[in-house]
Amino acid sequence: MPLKISISGVRGTVPDSLTPEIALDLAKAFGTYLGGGKVVVGTDSRATSEFIKGIVFSGLLATGCKVIDLGIAPTPTVGIMTRELAAAGGIVITASHNPLPWNGLKFMRSDGIFLNQEQANKFLAIYEQKKFKPAPAGGVSSNNKALDIHIAKALKASNPLAIKLRRLKVAVDACNGAGSIILPRFLEKLGCKVIAINCNPKLPFPHPPEPTAENLSELVELVKAKKADVGFAMDSDADRLAVVSDAGEAVGEEATLALVTKFVIGKKIHLNSKKKIVVINLSTTKAIDDICQANGARVIRTKVGEVNVSEELKSVKALIGGEGNGGVIYPKVGYNRDAITGAGLILSLLAFSGKKLSRLVEELPHYEMIKTKIECASLEQANAYLEKVKARFAGSDLILTEGIKVVLPDAWVHIRPSNTEPIIRLIAEGTTKAKAAALIERATA
Ligand code: MG
Repeated sequence: MPLKISISGVRGTVPDSLTPEIALDLAKAFGTYLGGGKVVVGTDSRATSEFIKGIVFSGLLATGCKVIDLGIAPTPTVGIMTRELAAAGGIVITASHNPLPWNGLKFMRSDGIFLNQEQANKFLAIYEQKKFKPAPAGGVSSNNKALDIHIAKALKASNPLAIKLRRLKVAVDACNGAGSIILPRFLEKLGCKVIAINCNPKLPFPHPPEPTAENLSELVELVKAKKADVGFAMDSDADRLAVVSDAGEAVGEEATLALVTKFVIGKKIHLNSKKKIVVINLSTTKAIDDICQANGARVIRTKVGEVNVSEELKSVKALIGGEGNGGVIYPKVGYNRDAITGAGLILSLLAFSGKKLSRLVEELPHYEMIKTKIECASLEQANAYLEKVKARFAGSDLILTEGIKVVLPDAWVHIRPSNTEPIIRLIAEGTTKAKAAALIERATA
């Protein structure tokens, strides 16, 4: 598979497309881009992450950086530590939800947010032109406090006393990823009875790491067998969180952010509505709009991609935000999608509402989502297709921030070229599956 370079970082298969030489050049380019300084590095649990880490250290050291090694650490933990240690930047070695043999690199600036388009262009120009600036190495040191610092922040953002009183039974499937140690430890500190499977980062992934329903059957069975109050699953770098209800239902990743938003916004009854802001991307469920409308909060939608949400969220001082694929961003803890904090907020909702999770899910506004894609050979072809769609939906409510989003009263479809692949993504949602499917059909006919 070819190397994918995009605003979300670099991903490739190891060792054929993400080669040692490419990893070295990327690290040297990042060190040059930062102009030296402290760089925090964490990895997911893939066997290849350790070997790429050694190469990345060499590239950073060769360009005058001082490396701080967090070992295996979730992406949000690396973001938190980059800020905590006042580093110049951070690197996460992970292919996130992609299965083996993929691996990749995510690049963070000093506030823990990923590079934006302009910054990524500047950094990638250094990489492509190989304009590296050698400088005396700053050395490597380890920091083993990262998980505890992250846990302390997530505890402060949750409601430990209320959660402890409920003595909740919580099942966890970390897919043996970077969240394997931190999430069970965090849940124990919240007084939960934790039943953990696939929480050994030394072992390979037991199933594909994307926390979508088809990969959660083991967790679903565990929740049912142990009569757990809730089940949590994460991807390999623990930034996406999926939830299984007490009824043994994988409720879908869109529900994660909807539940958390309902809790965070619902608690701010006395706050001026101008300050109640939620930031999500264009493809996130409309359930968030409905929840915000019912609670006097405002929704801002950005282009898809974590950095777009994070930057907006920081600049407007939003209360909460994220992406519909299980990505909760809570600025009190950090500016990255964070499965650990997301889990704490869902438990807070359970504790304060006194309701079962299946009931809380039932109470969410109900929508059905369909995701599909079409192949697209070139940018010209993609643009021609988008023009055709625009003409077809002329007269409808169109949002043109990124690709085209068609908004009807009871359904919407977002059509956008992918950041990473030669495809166009179509995401539709409706009050029924048929309404969402009809919109996809109209867009692709
Ligand atoms: Mg991820």
